[in-house]
Amino acid sequence: MVISEKKSNSILKGISASPGIAIGSVYILDRAKPCILRHGITDSHIENEISRFKQALEKSKLQLNEVREKAKKGLGANHLYILDAHIMILKDAALIENTIHIIRGKKVNAEWALKESMEGFLKKFEEITDEYISSRKKDIEEAVYRVLRNMIGYHQESLADLEEPVIIVAHDLTPSDTIQMKREKVLGFATDAGGKTSHTGIMASAFEIPAVVGLKNITEKVKNGDLIIVDGIDGSVLLNPHEDSFQLFLKKQQRFKFYEKELLKAKDLPAITKDGQRVKLMSNIEYSDEVNLAVGYGAEGIGLYRTEYLYINKEVLPTEEEHFLDYKKVATCIKDSYSIIRTLDLGGDKFVFDQKSDNENNPALGLRGIRLCMDRVDIFKAQLKGILRASKYGKLKLMYPMISGIDELREANQILKDVKDELRFKGIPFDPDIEVGAMIETPSASLIIDLLSNEVEFFSIGTNDLIQYTLAIDRINEQVAYLYQPLHPAVLRTLKNIISSAEKSGKPVSICGMMGSDPIHTLIILGMGHIESISMDPHSIPKIKKFIRRIKYEDAVRVADEVLKLGSIKEIKEYLNKEMPRIYPEDIKGYKLSDNSTFTNKKGEVSRLQYI
Ligand code: PEP
Ligand code: MG
Repeated sequence: MVISEKKSNSILKGISASPGIAIGSVYILDRAKPCILRHGITDSHIENEISRFKQALEKSKLQLNEVREKAKKGLGANHLYILDAHIMILKDAALIENTIHIIRGKKVNAEWALKESMEGFLKKFEEITDEYISSRKKDIEEAVYRVLRNMIGYHQESLADLEEPVIIVAHDLTPSDTIQMKREKVLGFATDAGGKTSHTGIMASAFEIPAVVGLKNITEKVKNGDLIIVDGIDGSVLLNPHEDSFQLFLKKQQRFKFYEKELLKAKDLPAITKDGQRVKLMSNIEYSDEVNLAVGYGAEGIGLYRTEYLYINKEVLPTEEEHFLDYKKVATCIKDSYSIIRTLDLGGDKFVFDQKSDNENNPALGLRGIRLCMDRVDIFKAQLKGILRASKYGKLKLMYPMISGIDELREANQILKDVKDELRFKGIPFDPDIEVGAMIETPSASLIIDLLSNEVEFFSIGTNDLIQYTLAIDRINEQVAYLYQPLHPAVLRTLKNIISSAEKSGKPVSICGMMGSDPIHTLIILGMGHIESISMDPHSIPKIKKFIRRIKYEDAVRVADEVLKLGSIKEIKEYLNKEMPRIYPEDIKGYKLSDNSTFTNKKGEVSRLQYI
């Protein structure tokens, strides 16, 4: 490892999204569109421009084929549709002929002609009402920009090409980036955009890759090959470290790994407070292969399977059979407990589903989650059938996201009933008593728990969205990340209301948002009433288990009662600053609750109590 000559040692603060320390060289994933200028050419240059265009076209196809071959080995054929689509676009006769026509007719440079040609195509696409076809606009742009970059000598980037282990620096990562990347070659992520609950962060955590997001402008501060340190524990990135900082971080990396190992020794012990309150610790997963990882961290079941990744990078929608096989894997791996499969929550801040949702002005409030399923019942039914069929192979529960009212819930349940009838009619076995739950992540749902409880068997609180909607703070917008405050009195009162109402209605309630992976938030939530389970990213389970085993339930109740009486975040933090060292002295000594709700020491290091 070469330590930079410049030794600038500058620190950028961001948001920790996945724990651990990564040390390595920068690889900038440049998604910026090159600036294309128009140049007039003389007759004698026309053939030369056409040949430059054709060469760039060939080079681009070659690159795509290479990426395709590499990705095929790592991922299997069913993830390659996007690359195939790009290759097809570059073979399109109309696009090629039109570009040549513009070069000849308007006597302009090849780059400009191709750009003009592409824009003409995109315009035509806008007039097409077929959602599927018009949603391919992004592919056309991506494929054409590859050719343009090749023409002007830009380096082409694909995470499938990585040869050496690197740290990816990008504005943000798209789902197709994460699908293509070779995991073993990615040491860490550092991105301009994103928040703690953004999907780049969630995926980094699922892949166990240290990540810091929301760095605002890291892409402007580094160049390829720079040495950087991604500190996913404290949420910072160190550029071109001095030798002594480098050594400090090496030690920190070792300490973190050692601490993780220590925590894992207790992974099979129950999460039970000193005075006997038991809570189940479950895992959130993003893809079915993650189940084993979750069990390895001591998960007692799967509290949330986010099924969105089944839909990513697919030319065609997943079939009922694909759903079935995927959920069957989860059902059979979790033997003594259960797994909750969440029906798809595409749209919003997640992944764009189609043209209709791509054009929304306010996607977080738009056609996402259960709303999308009501709009596309065919998609919903295919998933429900898959879940039901898999329920024969292990205990599964199903859960609807983004529920905002009772009519929507009844409609979803009616569709579920229809699907059950259809399976029965065909003689296909499934668990007839499969439990159905609702995620509580909208303020409206939080206010009508008593009504919703007549329609479902359980609730799970999605705090990531619940905070977003309660506080009107976009959860992925780094500009307002400082306002995304789980300890806001409105959030705490909402949580208390949900938990008390669920208790009154006799329906179990769990937590599956990220508040559950923070010990301080866990303490408060536990003190609000009976929580059936807390579901979180797999690595947080050992830490939360340790915490729960060292505290008393009566302390949790007292703290929850007190914070609910306080009117401001500041007062709540002051109170917790006094209380926490008494309740849990072990990792708190020398640390104070900071603005971003983490216990931090004078050097800005987060207490290991809150390693995420
Ligand atoms: C949540 O909103 O808290 C949640 C668990 O769901 P997601 O993060 O997938 O929106
Ligand atoms: Mg959510």
